[in-house]
Amino acid sequence: MTHPMFKYDPVLAEAIFAHCRARLEMDAPLDYGSHGLTPMPSLDGLITHEGRDAVEVLEFFGEQLAPRVVSIDSPAFLAFIPNAPTMNSRFFDMVVAASALNGTSWLESAGAVVAENQALQFLSQRAGMPEGSGGAFVSGGTIGNLSALTVGRDTGQARHPDIPRHLVRFAISAAAHSSIGKALHVLGIEALVVEPDDHRFTLAALERALANDPHPETVIGIVATAGTTNAGIVDDLEGLGTYARANDLWFHVDGAYGGAALFSEQRHLLSGIRHADSFIVDPHKWLFAPLDCCALLYRKPVAAKKFLAQQASYLDILHQDEESLEEWNPSDFGLHLSRRARGLPFWFSLVTNGVEAYETATQAAIDLADYAVRTIEAHEAFELVRPAGLSIVLYRRKGWTEQQYIAWSERVLREQLAFVTPTKWEGETVARFAFLHPDTTTELIDAILASMLD
Ligand SMILES: *Cc1c(COP(=O)(O)O)cnc(C)c1O
Repeated sequence: MTHPMFKYDPVLAEAIFAHCRARLEMDAPLDYGSHGLTPMPSLDGLITHEGRDAVEVLEFFGEQLAPRVVSIDSPAFLAFIPNAPTMNSRFFDMVVAASALNGTSWLESAGAVVAENQALQFLSQRAGMPEGSGGAFVSGGTIGNLSALTVGRDTGQARHPDIPRHLVRFAISAAAHSSIGKALHVLGIEALVVEPDDHRFTLAALERALANDPHPETVIGIVATAGTTNAGIVDDLEGLGTYARANDLWFHVDGAYGGAALFSEQRHLLSGIRHADSFIVDPHKWLFAPLDCCALLYRKPVAAKKFLAQQASYLDILHQDEESLEEWNPSDFGLHLSRRARGLPFWFSLVTNGVEAYETATQAAIDLADYAVRTIEAHEAFELVRPAGLSIVLYRRKGWTEQQYIAWSERVLREQLAFVTPTKWEGETVARFAFLHPDTTTELIDAILASMLD
């Protein structure tokens, strides 16, 4: 007897496949999020003792809930950092779900892990990290940064038993992503917060900060950003990385967004990643994989395993040899244990589309940023805040107040033209484009700029 919850229902199956097919075949509608469609439908009483008809609930989701989510894969989604999964990565995400694929340990999941590791190895080679580098796919940049900084901290503490454990610090830029500060908060350690040079963390800025600090010896690592989220600025990876190597400091590179530029014509900006002890890039950002997927890489994975592998009697069978990496447990390299084999949709897409497709798709976003810059500079109502950083453009609509930017952002979403949100730059509210989807058009950029002249 099959329990009713585990029975294959051909009617529901058809409804689900039809729903997925329709969503995959259509041009993603922009949709509304919390603006534009009001009020929110009531979900009261939906959960019942006996359950509800699944096809009806699927319809309720499709008609009432899905339109209240802004489609992050729409080419008109230019806010925050978008996410535009390739068709093949979406297809394979469905395969991963239908197969209930686990990605925890070599013992259980060797077949999934070898494929994920192939994708990780490819990324580490692109980044110029040495042979033997490796890690795991984790849920996102936040957990990737936290995992890497945990290993960096523990390595620093082990190297410097003379420094009280809670006093070790990382040097970070004031422009580092919010998740870096949060990671250090979780780890219970402080940062040497370096004032960057024009928002870019340089070796000169680091040396100034160290010279003015009463305890520079407590700095055990450096965190650099390959593409800041707000402005796409790439730190002085070469200078900071060389300094870190020479001084036995942990060098972490946060490339959650901008690491993907390794596939673009601007890859030379990222060559310093080859010095990294740890490096992250989110395929769910600019490498066109579905959420949620961060590639977390270590120069010396054995060190990561030493500090992060969970030990328990029921897990001993996974860890018969602490020093060996022959049996690769993804769970040993991040702050997680059970895990979805979330690297597989990226792997399948990379293998099937080939590398060149990734190169043209990442470069397309940089070309769109170039186009936006030229158009903004050609119009007297607009002013560029600074040169484009990778695929991010900051600009002003001259004379506008914060309220005007916010009202405009809400209006163009309501009109379903685009999702663009303002940001703050040196205390001032400005407009921001984050390009990512290669199908975003120059006509859309023109239309968005024109909407600011209404
Ligand atoms: C997005 C981002 C993060 C956080 O990544 P999540 O996947 O959202 O957790 C960290 N650092 C940078 C530079 C980012 O752009």
